[in-house]
Amino acid sequence: MSHIFPRNCKIALPQVAHGDGVYLFDTEGKRYLDGSGGAAVSCLGHSDPDVSAAIKAQLDRVAFAHTGFFTSQPAEALADKLVAHAPEGLDRVYLVSGGSEAVEAALKLARQYFIETGQPERHRVIARRQSYHGNTLGALATGGNMWRREPFAPLMIETSHIAPCYAYRDQQKGETAWDYGQRVANELEAEICRLGPENVMAFVAEPVVGATAGAVPPVEGYFKRIREICDHHGVLLILDEIMCGMGRTGTLFACEQDGISPDIITIAKGLGAGYQPVGAMLCTGHIYDAIEQGSGFFQHGHTYVGHPTAAAAALAVLTRLTDGGLVARAQEMGEKLDTALRAAFGQHPHVGDIRGRGLFRGLELVEDRETKRPFPRERAVHKTVKRAAFEAGLICYPMGGTIDGQRGDHILLAPPFILTDTQTDELVTKLSTALGATL
Ligand code: PMP
Repeated sequence: MSHIFPRNCKIALPQVAHGDGVYLFDTEGKRYLDGSGGAAVSCLGHSDPDVSAAIKAQLDRVAFAHTGFFTSQPAEALADKLVAHAPEGLDRVYLVSGGSEAVEAALKLARQYFIETGQPERHRVIARRQSYHGNTLGALATGGNMWRREPFAPLMIETSHIAPCYAYRDQQKGETAWDYGQRVANELEAEICRLGPENVMAFVAEPVVGATAGAVPPVEGYFKRIREICDHHGVLLILDEIMCGMGRTGTLFACEQDGISPDIITIAKGLGAGYQPVGAMLCTGHIYDAIEQGSGFFQHGHTYVGHPTAAAAALAVLTRLTDGGLVARAQEMGEKLDTALRAAFGQHPHVGDIRGRGLFRGLELVEDRETKRPFPRERAVHKTVKRAAFEAGLICYPMGGTIDGQRGDHILLAPPFILTDTQTDELVTKLSTALGATL
């Protein structure tokens, strides 16, 4: 009997034995193409020598020193490099161990900022339906995925959820993409006014929606309008780039492509590329200064914040992404993957939408392409596709997203940026086999 407490008690999983580039191997010797980098984590593949060497070197110097006593060279260097490449104004970095932790830190920082600046009534968070921001209680309360929230709702802070920016489903006939974007962004203004701007702390959104909807990018102009609304009402804009950041969409930060800068941004997953559990929250100097000039103390912290070995790994990852040209490669290979997906599934009767940016691509599966009617929920098509793909030696990340109570099936693809042309073909062929066996 295994003593591990698995996520799904009813399914026995194979044991992973080793990784090589974009492939994982189980103990039976079966090879899997990691078409989703796990959950958009492994952006460098599974055998990056630079990152391994950086971790080993740091372990030989010092594995850990508590940030209550010391800062460290890798943590300082990582923060410098992140700031050098971050969207304008984000110039302070708080290092954590993962995505949910980064979101919790962002929420608490926003709250403390308003206390320090004499606006203690600002505490309400607005986010979007069909969103996921993590599994800890604050992050879970922020997310708008009802299936994930429901069992834990009594434990959560009250959050408002407005419409997501989801053109495939919600752009109306005769409405331009621009007008649609402005219309849904304006829901934020309406909600701020309903709650009273003096009560609203932050708006939280993922620039390109990952796990709940399969790589849905915003329409042009949407985030510019969101930024305007936040500025107008003094509400902090928190962007969650835990999944879509770190080069995944073809730019280091996804929001670069929307021409805006948030007040706070959260990153994780690709930052450690799976080599270490690490995340970060970046904030503007304006927010940091308010705390420095106020209490001088961010009232938050976990044992492993600023972990030196995790920071050394993240620094090596970031160096590979920026100096090593891998962000540009994510853009180039992303376009090739998009072309290949459209060639293979563009006319597929059950593929309603193919979308995304860079190496962050999604397919929405529908029962009827014309009406966009989703498959019945009970069929759990996404789970069957995942199993069939795994069988065929492909790891992809399927999701049954909740769209205003209506459930749809998505497949998220987020392969490592080192993906080659041949491996792109292999990915699409295996996905085709999985869809063929399922639908
Ligand atoms: N935000 C987003 C957008 C995510 O995709 C995730 C993880 N899927 C998280 C937050 C939570 O990150 P973690 O699982 O590392 O806590």
